[in-house]
Amino acid sequence: MSEHPRRIVVLGSTGSIGEQTLEMVRAHPDRLMVTGLAAGRNSQRLAEQAAEFGVDLVALADETSAERFDETVTKPLVGPDGICELVESAEADLVVCAISGVAGLRPLMVALEAGIDCALANKEPLVSAGRIVTETARKSGARLLPIDSEISAIFQCLRGEDPSEVEKILLTASGGPFSGLSAEELQEVTADRALDHPTWQMGRKVTIDSATLANKGFEVFEVHWMFGVDVRNIEVVVHHQSIIHSMVQFQDGSVIAQMGLPDMRVAIQFAMLYPERVSNDLPRMDLAEIGKLTFARPDTERFPCLRLAFSAARAGRSYPAVLNAADEVAVEAFLADEIPFMRIPELIERALEEHQAFETHTLADVEQADAWAREYVRGLL
Ligand code: NDP
Repeated sequence: MSEHPRRIVVLGSTGSIGEQTLEMVRAHPDRLMVTGLAAGRNSQRLAEQAAEFGVDLVALADETSAERFDETVTKPLVGPDGICELVESAEADLVVCAISGVAGLRPLMVALEAGIDCALANKEPLVSAGRIVTETARKSGARLLPIDSEISAIFQCLRGEDPSEVEKILLTASGGPFSGLSAEELQEVTADRALDHPTWQMGRKVTIDSATLANKGFEVFEVHWMFGVDVRNIEVVVHHQSIIHSMVQFQDGSVIAQMGLPDMRVAIQFAMLYPERVSNDLPRMDLAEIGKLTFARPDTERFPCLRLAFSAARAGRSYPAVLNAADEVAVEAFLADEIPFMRIPELIERALEEHQAFETHTLADVEQADAWAREYVRGLL
């Protein structure tokens, strides 16, 4: 154990992952301390968190939210630049990246460029700019530690293993709340119903992405970029109980699985205290109680987002940034009851078909593809 508590910055602290991160900081006050907090618009909750953890350095996504912040606590930095400034000045040992969407890309890059380790829940930056993100980390020596439970599982299965001996990654998927619905029934589902996920309590965007299986597609990018696994060697397996969080198959046919109750706090703690495994009070798994574990192949006819993600991952260049941005716009429209559920994959597919792809060497290239896709999909709404 290190002498000083690890200094943590939490980006997206008011969200589902952010709150669970702070819960784990509370559980380990001798090992972890918060030095910076950033959120989108929830000024009140951010002020409460800053007061509780004695944090002076906070940031909010826009001016209106910053004006609502209680200035007796501290004065917030503002906007995307403010969030990046917070990352630069917080003297963090670890940045927990839990902003939702590609909005988390810039602050992640600032942290990695400064050589600061990042615990990554926010998967969209790896979809849009996976090569740039991982190359930046490699150059600066910053570590990317996964929080996403499937990616954490693979990370744990690979501990002490030789990556060149990996044959295949078996990425498990809960299947989402609609796995049993027919194509006709899927046409009718509402945002309220989609937000009711069977196993995970998550933010709105990732919950819809789980229902369309776009989220599983995004995890294919995470696996590809974080572990250097070829997309052809990543297989998705539907596993409704979410007990096996993913598996690694090796060249000799041996398969290692990581298991546990579906509880993000386990992966969050592992990322924050890595490489130590530290005792905690979280609930334990009882396999006899769970009874059985089931597995099935995903249905990419009913859930085309998974197929689209695989094809964008294989095609590379600017397609992944288009996939991600088209999904963000389509999900927002679905949440606002502007489009039906099955229009989400339709819009993404149209954007991918119409896009004139180019190489994405820089963040500006990624942002150009992202902006094109947003404008194109909005034009279809
Ligand atoms: P939430 O919607 O619950 O939280 C998102 C957080 O990001 C909030 O704090 C929100 O602030 C903040 N935020 C949103 N937009 C901005 C912005 N432009 N600038 C700064 N902050 C912003 O999402 P989750 O916590 O569920 O998910 C976060 C990320 O983690 C996603 O990428 C998701 O895919 C990933 N993830 C989530 C899992 C989960 O179980 N929840 C599991 C694995 C991965 P505010 O609310 O104040 O507006």
